[in-house]
Amino acid sequence: MASDEIKRNHVLLFFGKNDLGRKRFKMIEKELIKGIIYSQFDDKAGPIPIVWVPSNISDELKNLISLKTINILAGDSEEIPESLAFIPFPSLNLKGLVKFIEIQDETRRGRTIDSSITLLFDEADDLIFYKYIKNFETIFADIAKKIINLAEKKASSKKLFEEMKKFENEIREILIELREGEVPKGKEAFPKAAEPESTGYRYKLIVVGDPHVGKTSTILRYTDNAFRRTYIPTIGVNLSEKQIKYKENEIKFVLWDIAGQSKFQKMRNYFYKGADGQLLVFDLTAPESFANIPNWYKDIKLNLKGKVEGLILANKNDLVNQRKVGNAEIAKLAGELNLEYFETSALTGDNINKVFERIADLLYQKGKIKVSEQKLKKVTRKSGKIPNKGKKSSKKPSKKKRKSN
Ligand code: GDP
Ligand code: MG
Repeated sequence: MASDEIKRNHVLLFFGKNDLGRKRFKMIEKELIKGIIYSQFDDKAGPIPIVWVPSNISDELKNLISLKTINILAGDSEEIPESLAFIPFPSLNLKGLVKFIEIQDETRRGRTIDSSITLLFDEADDLIFYKYIKNFETIFADIAKKIINLAEKKASSKKLFEEMKKFENEIREILIELREGEVPKGKEAFPKAAEPESTGYRYKLIVVGDPHVGKTSTILRYTDNAFRRTYIPTIGVNLSEKQIKYKENEIKFVLWDIAGQSKFQKMRNYFYKGADGQLLVFDLTAPESFANIPNWYKDIKLNLKGKVEGLILANKNDLVNQRKVGNAEIAKLAGELNLEYFETSALTGDNINKVFERIADLLYQKGKIKVSEQKLKKVTRKSGKIPNKGKKSSKKPSKKKRKSN
């Protein structure tokens, strides 16, 4: 057989009939990965991109990614983080999953070369990467080893590029497997359809705040990854659920998380609609995100008729040295909006559970009568829609002073 023929047969085998579904997934996966950039810190030139895929990434993009990635590495601490890190690139609407790599090199001043691999994806897709981060740890560790090996052998960048291509393919394979694991075989729909039913009370909580304040991280921390997820692409939100026992009742929170900011702008009425509670999140290290809290609050108020219970979350309180918003300021704003606030950390988990316990308290107080009335009522949910719980209560605000300004 001529080698051409062998190749053709191989291609047919690979894309044979049974592989059609897989091929379709492959196309979807391709869009998830926006690029992979390997950068090194050069003593004189600073951070420079060494290899990247796809090969047509613009200079501007790869320089920016290298710069930001390596700066963050150099900035925070002396130690190279072992695990993967998420780095947001807000101006590009992208996020990166980053592995830092230290290469030994006797000729260098510090005897090491700091380098990094950044896997870029659309920030709207971030939940996929957050949720499955464990699945990526090993493969990133492997590529790190290979890079160290190649660097020690002073291999050409062509070799590095080949490794990077392989790495890209492996990531894509993992994404396909994960997706197939989530989607029942034979079903067309991805993202998957909503779960059919549940009992008890269902509360819709909207989680709002500027990009990158930690909304998705907070939700993931609370739900501990063990949640059902529905993605509604038309409004760009991720729904996740968590069921808890509260005073003998089963309560289910449905958490609405904005995935990517721009989509949200157009669809926010839909996003807010029917919300029972709001979590207003800002980043203690980003004063503008704090300054925007009243705007988020007003925006929700304008779009929703009834009073929505809510809390302010002052997130990233683990970043003690970078903190830029003081306690007095937060307390003042919380007073003005008549909301309670919590300092949280999605990283350490500080106060995350407390936030949800407190919002359960508030909702319970507010809807006490209604809750007992509909105690055993079965709530059925159709795809993407949360039924009205009929709790449009005209009940007076609870004894705690709750102005309706
Ligand atoms: P979102 O855009 O509001 O959903 O923000 P993300 O949850 O995607 O978080 C943005 C970035 O901040 C990511 O790099 C997270 O790892 C990081 N992050 C989120 N919460 C915390 C936190 O409590 N502490 C620290 N140190 N980083 C956080
Ligand atoms: Mg998010």
